[in-house]
Amino acid sequence: MSFAPSDVLRRVFGFESFMGRQEEIIDHVVNGGEALVLMPTGGGKSLCYQIPALCKGGMGVVISPLIALMRDQVEALKQLGVRAAALNSALESGEAGRIIDQIKAGKLDLLYVAPERLLMDGTLGLLEQCRISLFAIDEAHCVSQWGHDFRPEYLQLSVLSERFPKVPRIALTATADVPTRNEIIKKLKLENGRVFISSFDRPNIRYHVLPKNKPREQLLRFLKKDHAEDSGIVYCLSRARVEEIAEWLSQQGFDALPYHAGLATGVRSRNQDRFIKDEGVIVVATIAFGMGIDKPNVRFVVHMDMPKSIEAYYQETGRAGRDGLPSDSLLLYGNEDVAKLRSMIEDGEANEQRKQLERRKLDALAGYCSSSRCRRQTLLEYFGEVLSEPCGNCDSCLYPVDTFDGTVAAQKALSCVYRTGQRFGTVHLTDVLVGADTERVRQFGHDKLPTYGVGKEFTRSQWRDIFRQLVAHGILITDMEGHGGLRFGSEDVSRSVLRGEKKVTLREDMTFALKREVKEKRAKHSDGSKVKQVLDNAEDENVFQSLRALRLRIAKEQNVPPYVIFHDTTLMAIAQKRPRTLQEMGGISGIGVAKLERYGEVFLKAIAA
Ligand code: ADP
Ligand code: ZN
Repeated sequence: MSFAPSDVLRRVFGFESFMGRQEEIIDHVVNGGEALVLMPTGGGKSLCYQIPALCKGGMGVVISPLIALMRDQVEALKQLGVRAAALNSALESGEAGRIIDQIKAGKLDLLYVAPERLLMDGTLGLLEQCRISLFAIDEAHCVSQWGHDFRPEYLQLSVLSERFPKVPRIALTATADVPTRNEIIKKLKLENGRVFISSFDRPNIRYHVLPKNKPREQLLRFLKKDHAEDSGIVYCLSRARVEEIAEWLSQQGFDALPYHAGLATGVRSRNQDRFIKDEGVIVVATIAFGMGIDKPNVRFVVHMDMPKSIEAYYQETGRAGRDGLPSDSLLLYGNEDVAKLRSMIEDGEANEQRKQLERRKLDALAGYCSSSRCRRQTLLEYFGEVLSEPCGNCDSCLYPVDTFDGTVAAQKALSCVYRTGQRFGTVHLTDVLVGADTERVRQFGHDKLPTYGVGKEFTRSQWRDIFRQLVAHGILITDMEGHGGLRFGSEDVSRSVLRGEKKVTLREDMTFALKREVKEKRAKHSDGSKVKQVLDNAEDENVFQSLRALRLRIAKEQNVPPYVIFHDTTLMAIAQKRPRTLQEMGGISGIGVAKLERYGEVFLKAIAA
């Protein structure tokens, strides 16, 4: 039997309409086409293979690299009344046998399987005897050696095209760049497939970037202002800092847990579990955390330290707001971070070519941080997309920074760099500019230079900031071969600034950082929590809170994450519409036939109360 995709969307998932390019992709796959799907996190990739599998009859096989992810997806599907199971190394004995029986009996709609398990001869042989509707290769960037989570087993997945030439394959990833994309097509032999690229914009995420200045206070202010009861992730660069910040947040009354590779496995999985299965938990983590977590209502992601590239930053911030509700990202950055990351690159094992690339990536991120342009425009441009208008939902758009004409300051700085031989770092250059009497200045005779003491209108920390911005603009670059001294960037640019042909606009940044935060605090657009932003009256919010408590109780009874019962979006819609009958309830987005049957009555009762 076969069903129409839009029927499945409505009946099973309870959604009224497709999102983005879902419909196109699903039609293509239902008609036997192969595809590579590039969609940002939260774009709705799962439906692109789940619906075709349900429409076509037979069993859809989903290859997924992470056991935790599989478990959640299977749980969510079961809640929808879909016959799903996962085969992986984490199964208890006997369970694998039971699933294999179900496969043989044709009783599964969707089978999730880890690549190493799939590639075992027994599994491939078993599948050859079944009716398979499609293979979905999730997290397909794992096939790329260039990317960040290379999985050697993924390379062998090309065997699927040989052993199952008639079964269509669809590969999916949220990694956007062109080299990775081409590698996926080549390694998975998808040359005959269509490539579907969606915009990588995440319009519901609001980006904030602040110069680091008493970071704990900045974090606390951010949490208190918008995220008092929310779940979120706080990233730090080191394990020690993870522990320290988690401890401190707990003292401040937040439900905060640490997560890093140095913790015992038991502690780690317990903390991750709490994050997924409870409400309002904050995880403080190194970047190891987040991969394979599907939690849709992560309301904020904070970077206490700089990530190492825009790709990493975008991927990590992308873990916020999968459900499409308003979410925040906050990045705190400072010169020290950039210096630390730089020395990590220099001391690393990588070859020179790779190091060069890493330096460029770091420079791009540093430039992003100190730019006064719309954050989203800068980010999307980095990924090759054009956003013609500023977004209106980032700090640069909401609280434009004050800038000043820094041409003269830049000229003084450049001239100082030039006359001291393009080999000194910020500290010494600043000494010369403010006319300090240090041993080094005397040793090199720099007190005799015409630039000596010409920069007294700025303080040392302002000069440090000006130098940082000049580096971010590419007017000066840090010489990595020498001792990290500054030299001219592209000759054209630096010289035209010196000659007064090019104006330099600088932002009143570091030194004025607090002013900016005060401005943010005064801005009226938000108060308390993100839920309040969506539900704008107290009564709806009360109903939402009690529905949330009910959902948590049900989830605990079943030992599943609350969001597999209902998503926050669905819960909010219930709170606003307050349905009185099952029929009214069934009309709400995210409530399909199975969920209505299971939870309709309980939730109706709760609303009536
Ligand atoms: P991805 O795997 O691309 O990160 P998901 O498949 O997890 O994204 O979907 C992201 C969110 O969007 C989920 O909360 C999902 O339930 C929701 N969603 C997906 N498709 C639709 C749709 N057509 N209508 C409403 N919500 C949808
Ligand atoms: Zn913007």
